[in-house]
Amino acid sequence: MEFSYICSECGKEHPISPDLMVCPDCSLKQDPQKPLLGVMEVRLKGKARPDFEVHSLLPVPQEFFPLLPVGDTPLWQAPNLRKELGFQNLFFKDDGRNPTSSFKDRASYLVSAFARMHKINKLCLASTGNAGSSMAGVGAAAGQEIVLFLPHTAPKAKLVQALQYGATVYRVKGTYDQAYDLSLEYSAKFGGMSRSTAYNPMTLEGKKTVSLELFQQLKKAPQHVLVPTGDGCILGGVYKGFKDLLQLGLISEMPVIHCVQAENSNAINRAFENGDFDLKPSSTIADSISVDIPRNGYYALTQLKKYQGNPVNVTDQEIKEAQKRLSSSTGLFTEPAGAAAFAGLLKIQKDLNPKDAIVVLATGSGLKDIQTAGGYVDVPEKTIKTLDEI
Ligand SMILES: *Cc1c(COP(=O)(O)O)cnc(C)c1O
Repeated sequence: MEFSYICSECGKEHPISPDLMVCPDCSLKQDPQKPLLGVMEVRLKGKARPDFEVHSLLPVPQEFFPLLPVGDTPLWQAPNLRKELGFQNLFFKDDGRNPTSSFKDRASYLVSAFARMHKINKLCLASTGNAGSSMAGVGAAAGQEIVLFLPHTAPKAKLVQALQYGATVYRVKGTYDQAYDLSLEYSAKFGGMSRSTAYNPMTLEGKKTVSLELFQQLKKAPQHVLVPTGDGCILGGVYKGFKDLLQLGLISEMPVIHCVQAENSNAINRAFENGDFDLKPSSTIADSISVDIPRNGYYALTQLKKYQGNPVNVTDQEIKEAQKRLSSSTGLFTEPAGAAAFAGLLKIQKDLNPKDAIVVLATGSGLKDIQTAGGYVDVPEKTIKTLDEI
């Protein structure tokens, strides 16, 4: 397999290099209040059989990957929900089962290997929490130094996780978007490869592995994938994986990708409706998808338009109910952002064919944010000593 970069905007091809993050031409026109211009997509050239190794479709040889079990996450059949909702082929892809308990490990894993291949030992990034704790954990396995910019509001578990893994953490008095800009300034000034989402092309490329796994687990592409979306990098990665499969002739049709966003943090879905990105401060209990400027917005929007994707907005109340329902009817406890995708399914269920293969991405473990989830369960106030008090 051969690999190169191709600018997702101007289409110009470049050799893959750690010195090239976004397109040198398109990024000149970058407006700081808008999504990234000139996001690079990895182009592959070659052939693959249906039983391909996922590693063989990635632009870094396997020997550079740190040794920890990323990906290959289970696909739950959720029989109780299948019965309740009438979907015979409903699945949950449980990415909370990655080493640091979120989907972000797919990106960190490839970024780490890419840095290693180029003998770069320091990585820096901004994160709402999961990308940071993920890079910290994967970096720990790889022996890399990780510098992390985290909004001070990030859930404690994610902060503690990053510190446990040994990352240097700067808590930012501001939003994720402000942390993002600081992290880019930091790498320009003090060096280190940026792993910030969408900016480093390996983040998008690493996230495609979920689609490759779905193809292998189902022996085909599903008809629908519901993706909880903030920056749009997971959504873009899901598209990229299926695009590779299309190009390789392994599938013949693109699934319908549903871009599920929290109603008050839905920049991509707004742009889908209105034609362009506007700026509106975000607010949602699902911290992982709370984003003002979706960094991978242009790429995500282009794919959604090209392949007839579907924007779905859900309220915080719907996210809470979906989280509890998923936990109590399947045993899968996912964080609010993960539950947002399921809330999206509940919202659009009447538009789907009961026979279709439907995959809901459960992107992070529920244990990542106990504070939020604890807010809408009834913790018994009374304590007991004997059974007589029941
Ligand atoms: C990051 C994240 C998302 C959203 O991914 P984007 O690429 O920002 O759209 C969804 N769920 C979880 C748990 C995440 O950590």
